[in-house]
Amino acid sequence: MRTKVFIIGSGIAGMACAIRLAVHGFEVTVFEKNNYPGGKSHLIEQDGYRFDAGPSLFVQPGNIEELFKLCNEDIQQYFNYAPIEVGCKYFYEDGVVLNAYSNKELLAEELESKTGEATGHIISYLEESKAIYKHTGEIFLNNSLHKASTWFHATVLKALLHTKPSYIFSTLNNANKRKFSSPHVVQLFNRFATYNGSSPYKAPAMLQLIPHIEFNEGVFYPKGGMVAVSNALYNLAKKMNVQFYFNSPVQKIITQHNRATGLLVNEKGLYADVVVSNADVYFTYRLLLNDKHKANEILRQERSSSAIVFYWGIKKEFTQLALHNIFFSKNYEAEFRSIFNTKTVYADPTIYINITSKCEPGNHAPAGKENWFVMVNVASDVKMSEPEIIQSYKKNIIAKLRRMLQTDIEPLIETEAVLHPQKIEAETSGFAGAIYGTASNSRHAAFSRHPNFCKTICGLYFAGGTVHPGGGIPLCLKSAEITSNLIIKNSSKYIA
Ligand code: FAD
Repeated sequence: MRTKVFIIGSGIAGMACAIRLAVHGFEVTVFEKNNYPGGKSHLIEQDGYRFDAGPSLFVQPGNIEELFKLCNEDIQQYFNYAPIEVGCKYFYEDGVVLNAYSNKELLAEELESKTGEATGHIISYLEESKAIYKHTGEIFLNNSLHKASTWFHATVLKALLHTKPSYIFSTLNNANKRKFSSPHVVQLFNRFATYNGSSPYKAPAMLQLIPHIEFNEGVFYPKGGMVAVSNALYNLAKKMNVQFYFNSPVQKIITQHNRATGLLVNEKGLYADVVVSNADVYFTYRLLLNDKHKANEILRQERSSSAIVFYWGIKKEFTQLALHNIFFSKNYEAEFRSIFNTKTVYADPTIYINITSKCEPGNHAPAGKENWFVMVNVASDVKMSEPEIIQSYKKNIIAKLRRMLQTDIEPLIETEAVLHPQKIEAETSGFAGAIYGTASNSRHAAFSRHPNFCKTICGLYFAGGTVHPGGGIPLCLKSAEITSNLIIKNSSKYIA
């Protein structure tokens, strides 16, 4: 008899976990409350424009390729992607514009010529970034931190030997200030803390491993936009005979004698050997297990930042913009204080603009027009969704872009949709709209994230951005791998 697995949620990690378990012969069923797969990664179509609703940066395609190889399927039959030359364009208020080439030699030359930072500083920073990623990152991102077998592995000793105290005891900002003399370059490398919704003024210098992913491995564009990635996983899962039920909110995880035995869906009890929650771990305890104590314990760890996103159809083309663009705030530290300390509106926010019509003109926006995904980081707090707050961000964004692009954007907006913390919580159950689960704003953060399994309920597992190793698509895919490996290893326990 095949082991039956129920998965709550069809986010990236839920689908990746389903695929991995189906390949191993498990009978997998996914229950999704929305009427589409992908969770935070889905599509918005409006007035002839299309927008990726959530994630926009595609890195480490190898994580996705691995899933297709496991299933013996040709990835190109599902989706295609290509490397991009300029990973991001950075605009500063003093008029400096930096092209962040994905190639590290080109990047170093660009930074030296525009900021005076020596090429050697950039190259050695990225070499160190690679070493941290290889020696420490890969071990801890690929394994459960809550199993003794991880810690008694020879590679862990090697990883610990490569971990300088400064990676743990210094903040990312302090480490970057020691390494670079140019404030522009410090700000550029500080920004990588936001890749998991953290502050460079609080997060440990260990996060220096993140630039390795962009500058040593590269940035890619998936044809069709990011939604092509979640659609490809959905189609692969279906090919592996995973069953999906949409519009099916799970009401409760059924347990018997501290063992997960099934789910309550549409008032109906359904039974399985293993349950995996891809929903936010806080809501899993709070709503699906009715365990307020455990849920509150989870909230003791700081949530990641949230975002306000304006999806704007712009009736003009901006040749000075690329696929990914950042308009930096003048005072980055004050901006992060407003996000993580005071949780208030910041008048000069760093603005991220993603324009997929740059890669697929005519497909994602009408000819001669552009689809702008305009995002600012805000506190994860549903208060940030109040209409006055959203309007003040819109005003601040338009004023900043008028200054920096010398163009009034407002009359060019011909269609608009908005995402904000409350909507993120309502659509994907991400507590308070946190987009990456928990922040890495302390040196203990990696160890405080919830494990990929439940310590008190046998047969209950977790995969996704709110559990180890954290948020963002690459980490969600790793989470799915860790979780499915634990289930496969323990599978003999679940057959009665
Ligand atoms: P989620 O996407 O959180 O999905 C969970 C699923 O569970 C949802 O479909 C939800 O409906 C379902 N669910 C919840 N409760 C129930 C229930 N009771 N019953 C049934 N179903 C339920 N990451 C990047 O890598 N790069 C980026 O550029 C990037 N940018 C981002 C920008 C924005 C605006 C946002 C919102 C996110 C961004 N992220 C980015 C983060 C990334 O999207 C997430 O880390 C990732 O998609 C989370 O995937 P997940 O598997 O944890 O599940």
